[in-house]
Amino acid sequence: MPSNYKFSLLSSIYITIGSYVVVNYKDLSFSVESVLVSLFIFCLSFIVLQIRVRKLLFERLRQIYKDLEFETDSLIQTSVIDPDINSFAKDLGEFVKLKRSEIETLKKEDLYRKQFVGNVAHELKTPLFSIQGYISNLLDGAMNDKELLNKYLKRAEKSVDRLTYIVKDLDLITQLESSTLKLDVTSFDIVKLAEEIIEDFEISASIKNIIIIFNKKYDNEILVDADRNRIEQVLTNLITNSINYGSQKGTTEISFEIDKENIIVKVNDNGVGISKENMPRLFQRFFRVDISRSRSQGGSGLGLAIVKHIIDAHNQNIHVQSTVGIGSEFSFSLKKSIIL
Ligand code: ADP
Repeated sequence: MPSNYKFSLLSSIYITIGSYVVVNYKDLSFSVESVLVSLFIFCLSFIVLQIRVRKLLFERLRQIYKDLEFETDSLIQTSVIDPDINSFAKDLGEFVKLKRSEIETLKKEDLYRKQFVGNVAHELKTPLFSIQGYISNLLDGAMNDKELLNKYLKRAEKSVDRLTYIVKDLDLITQLESSTLKLDVTSFDIVKLAEEIIEDFEISASIKNIIIIFNKKYDNEILVDADRNRIEQVLTNLITNSINYGSQKGTTEISFEIDKENIIVKVNDNGVGISKENMPRLFQRFFRVDISRSRSQGGSGLGLAIVKHIIDAHNQNIHVQSTVGIGSEFSFSLKKSIIL
């Protein structure tokens, strides 16, 4: 029974009993007349109370519903203002739960923003300070020495390149994390894409005497459904790392494993490797095992975070296997195209 009915019913019973006792206190025995009068008092008080309570509750609750914007809150399914206090309590409970989770999300986002801004400032500081240093030195007289002028300008240029690289990665990760980036999924040949990327790496790999191995057994095309540009970014980041953290005269091997529905793309190196305790944090933004090595290679600390976002956006998986001093294998899956 709704609580407002219960309230009116009980109150009417009390009023009826009270008035019966007051009116008939000299003779409390029942008579037809006194019972009829009591019945009338009961009905009248029940109707009056019910009307008053409903009106009062309805008005108050309507105001509260309005103040709390229940109706405009799409997550709370309250389209009807119910004067029953129990359903109001239920709605209010839901509202509190929703607001609590909104506050938690806002707190997390705030912390994330603060950490992100802190990390960005930290990343930009190093190349900016070094550019500032070289320019100051040149203005203080070093520019009169042709050799120094050339050397400092080259170093400043390297820092500008690094700044550009960091800003590009920051831009990409911001797009990925704010989900403004939509995937453009098409069917393309992953073998051809791998060949094109490997060609671009010939010079940087040769500087470290690293040989890139790509098995010639992939003569035929392998069609996958994915965003070609994004997968190019994934492969580029993984191959860059295999060279940056690879050994001199080492190897980087790109291979595929094909099963019924998926294809696994593998990038292997025989470089420095990654210890077990560092594995769980590998895909976090700005995480580096060896900060100085990463910076000296021009890394932004965002490469693997970008890779993970892109693979997640494709609803696919990425795995790492690595042993310190032996090497690493990064592998990710892609959906094979269905050929009709
Ligand atoms: P970075 O720009 O520093 O390379 P990444 O997000 O690409 O950032 O990688 C994060 C860290 O993971 C690197 O700093 C490095 O310590 C480690 N790492 C990534 N790939 C490899 C690899 N192939 N071998 C060894 N360590 C790696």
